[in-house]
Amino acid sequence: MRRRRRVKIIATLGPASADRTVVASLFEAGADVFRINMSHASHDAMRERVAMIRSIEKEYDRPIGILVDLQGPKLRVGEFETGAVLLRKGEAFTLDSDPTPGDQSRVCLPHPEILDSLAPGHRLLIDDGKVLLKVTSVAPGKAATLVEVAGRVSNKKGVSLPDTTIPTSAMTPKDRDDLHAALQQGVDWIALSFVQRPEDVAELRAIVASRAMVMAKIEKPQAIARLDEIMEVSDALMVARGDLGVEMPLEQVPGLQKRITRTARRLGKPVVVATQMLESMISSPVPTRAEVSDVATAVFEGADAVMLSAESASGQYPIEAVATMSRIGEQIESEEIYPAVITAQRASPERTGADAIAVATRDVAETLDLKLICAWTASGSTGLRIARERPRSSIVALTPNISAARRLALVWGVHAIVTEDARDERDMAERACRHAAAQGFAEVGERIIIVAGVPFGTPGATNNIRVAYVEAQDATGG
Ligand code: PEP
Repeated sequence: MRRRRRVKIIATLGPASADRTVVASLFEAGADVFRINMSHASHDAMRERVAMIRSIEKEYDRPIGILVDLQGPKLRVGEFETGAVLLRKGEAFTLDSDPTPGDQSRVCLPHPEILDSLAPGHRLLIDDGKVLLKVTSVAPGKAATLVEVAGRVSNKKGVSLPDTTIPTSAMTPKDRDDLHAALQQGVDWIALSFVQRPEDVAELRAIVASRAMVMAKIEKPQAIARLDEIMEVSDALMVARGDLGVEMPLEQVPGLQKRITRTARRLGKPVVVATQMLESMISSPVPTRAEVSDVATAVFEGADAVMLSAESASGQYPIEAVATMSRIGEQIESEEIYPAVITAQRASPERTGADAIAVATRDVAETLDLKLICAWTASGSTGLRIARERPRSSIVALTPNISAARRLALVWGVHAIVTEDARDERDMAERACRHAAAQGFAEVGERIIIVAGVPFGTPGATNNIRVAYVEAQDATGG
């Protein structure tokens, strides 16, 4: 099975996509990676979904990526005597550490370390920013605020703190538990929510210890302030526009998306654009024009992947949402203007052997107008560096490592195939040509370009570019 687009699709699983038939249909419709959101999934549900995806992978004989998204330190207010209160503009309202149910004048904020970090002038956004409180004074264990935007606040509503640097780690005890359970299942990507500093990602990395790839969700102003450092220590980034649009002014989100996608592309780190991409498809079989345009923008930016959340997890049209996203990707990438837009954002290579080979490969492919670049890659890293070039030719990554193939499912343009490592240079060329012909990437008589590291099986030794003809026996498997 071969996709006809370069941008990848991540579909979040949930109650609307709980059974195997639906998940298989989501894969057929275009989902390349499935996301399991630990804010909503129990360990048992996560394990069940992983097993289901692995069985679908086997059935279709195609590597599928699994992304487990850790909830992170989601802050919530306590409970109210009456279940909810209506806060009016200009009223005083206190947050404290008293666990007794709240009323019109106060409620518990059951995070003592947060109460200690608040300062006059800091904003508290409740329920995705529907209510805004501003801190007027602080005392040990309490913060007095004034209601700036009125509204109803009910039990356990979420709280965002755009101005406060939270002193604790981005990983809660629940996240650690979820992480260990996910790693035991051999998932491919772990996303960390509410990252504030590079140390948050480093902490996750230390536990993951290369068993998965690590993705930083960018959704806090503190992360934007240290974006370059966070990118440096992450394997990939997610523009998590849901919380980003709560913690930052909404009108800044598109510019931030551009900045994050461009920086990620410069570094060659996969970047995912997420949240509300086809939001209306939660309850409608067709998206709005604005949503189509939003997905198109991410595709034109050269994002590695676009993501569906509630659309595929709890909406009424999960399969239609994936199919729609896939069609938008295919159409945009076939527009005459697309190559020029993508090329205009191409960054200079890093001064490494891998990048020198990646640039030269694209150059040879373009000069000879070759349809396919075939990369032998043990860890997946050569596949990534070639994808960073956003070449016009298709990219096939041949790897002996199933987890490298699954990780590459998230990466722009890479079609990964699991096959044992090449034995020698002849085998390297013959097998590349055979896979190219078998999967419809090249026809008999056409030339393809092959990239590899010699001696074989040495990670990081990419040093070889070869142009080879697909011959008749490649197409027949002879
Ligand atoms: C987001 O906030 O955009 C996001 C992807 O995170 P979550 O779905 O976990 O809120």
